[in-house]
Amino acid sequence: MTIKTCSSVGIVGAGIQGVCIGLQLLKKNIPTTIFDKNDPGMMASYGNAGHFSPYAVLQLNRPDILYDIPKMLFSSFGPLALKWNYIPKMLPWIFHYLKNCNEKSMLHTAKYMNQILDQSMNAYEEIFQEIDTSNLIEQKGIIYIWTNKNIKSRELEIKIRNDLGVKQKLLSVKDILDLEPNLKPVFSGGCYYDYACHARDPHGILKKIFELFIKRGGKFVKENVKSLKQINETETLIETENKNYKFEKSVIACGAFSKKLTDQLGEKIPLDTERGYHIHFKGMEKLISRPVIFLDRGFGMTPMNQGLRAVGTVELGGLNNPISKKRIKYLANCAKELLPQLMDYQDEWLGFRPTLPDFLPVIGNSKNYKNIVYAFGHQHLGWTLGAITGKIVSSIISNEKTNLNLSPYSSSRFS
Ligand SMILES: Cc1cc2nc3c(=O)[nH]c(=O)nc-3n(C[C@H](O)[C@H](O)[C@H](O)COP(=O)(O)OP(=O)(O)OC[C@H]3O[C@@H](n4cnc5c(N)ncnc54)[C@H](O)[C@@H]3O)c2cc1C
Repeated sequence: MTIKTCSSVGIVGAGIQGVCIGLQLLKKNIPTTIFDKNDPGMMASYGNAGHFSPYAVLQLNRPDILYDIPKMLFSSFGPLALKWNYIPKMLPWIFHYLKNCNEKSMLHTAKYMNQILDQSMNAYEEIFQEIDTSNLIEQKGIIYIWTNKNIKSRELEIKIRNDLGVKQKLLSVKDILDLEPNLKPVFSGGCYYDYACHARDPHGILKKIFELFIKRGGKFVKENVKSLKQINETETLIETENKNYKFEKSVIACGAFSKKLTDQLGEKIPLDTERGYHIHFKGMEKLISRPVIFLDRGFGMTPMNQGLRAVGTVELGGLNNPISKKRIKYLANCAKELLPQLMDYQDEWLGFRPTLPDFLPVIGNSKNYKNIVYAFGHQHLGWTLGAITGKIVSSIISNEKTNLNLSPYSSSRFS
């Protein structure tokens, strides 16, 4: 029997975090309303690479790549790019990033990413039992390939994953070509996560989860949220452009847009965005059987229902700069390097990864207001972490104990 522990919750954001949190709250019998200025799942959760990556414990706050960053930034044709007009605004993030770019922080992040990644697929399994995922998910593993150029970094990644007990299988060039015979062998080795799944349509999956949320009695309000505050011990207020709404508790799950609301609550959380891109080569999805990620290039390809999705790169440039044609061209060229038969592409898309400078998400109560809960900052792994975030946040809201150590995800680490 489920016991009602909270009378109502409002969630801002209908990305993968928001819809998974909503569904979990309904399971606990808590009436829930989700707000979004767009239709559900139209931002980062729409156009990602679709990897379910429970193995991806190592993040970008690592000293080995620190020395390569200046070189990468000054090349307009590399995996990392900058919009120079945004740098002054990004200084707080860069400051915290540099502070977290050391071995101790890297290992701390890896340990606590592993803690939630390890439970990520079980959490999704529960949801997938309740929705029809046929033609939306495939389990054919995920391959990472590389050249020998940054082999020390690859060795470090392999060692850290081994130390944390992550299952991985090293591949020779021949092994890779046996799995993906159409690839041009411009690489020298790789790694295979044969148990990993990928989405053939992330937005299609999100819509199914959202439909289940609505079917179970959840409410959706398509309005832009202007502010969110706690009025007293039992009430929070969500103010949209049209109306005010009261709930016992509220959740901020606006991905890269969450900072606007947390700033209003008196917390200076250094959330920013790593912009990423995708394009589709229509009708070319059969050229590979599973996602292939070329680590040297910071890009990957996923066979999807919309076509072969070439996806990735990191661009530091905030939420308001326009799409960068150079990034799109970079993606197209990277894809053609591996699959020279590719020609025209469509659907140029820019998405905003929500990223904290220590590459851990913020999941937990607001520092100043106990009835406001945060769930954002899942960076490159927010698609993988949606379902487990839903479970964690619904436990926090219903005051249930979890066996996880949640303190590393607290926003107070930045105060
Ligand atoms: C190119 C790229 C590739 C990626 N590949 C992968 C991958 O393969 N695997 C993986 O695990 N992760 C991947 N990610 C990361 C993942 O997509 C994100 O971390 C995740 O989608 C974030 O989900 P979210 O719900 O926090 O945010 P979002 O999906 O961005 O949703 C936030 C929602 O909040 C709404 N919103 C914002 N402000 C307001 C407001 N004021 N009022 C009302 N609504 C508001 C927005 O409209 C939006 O719908 C990738 C990301 C990118 C960009």
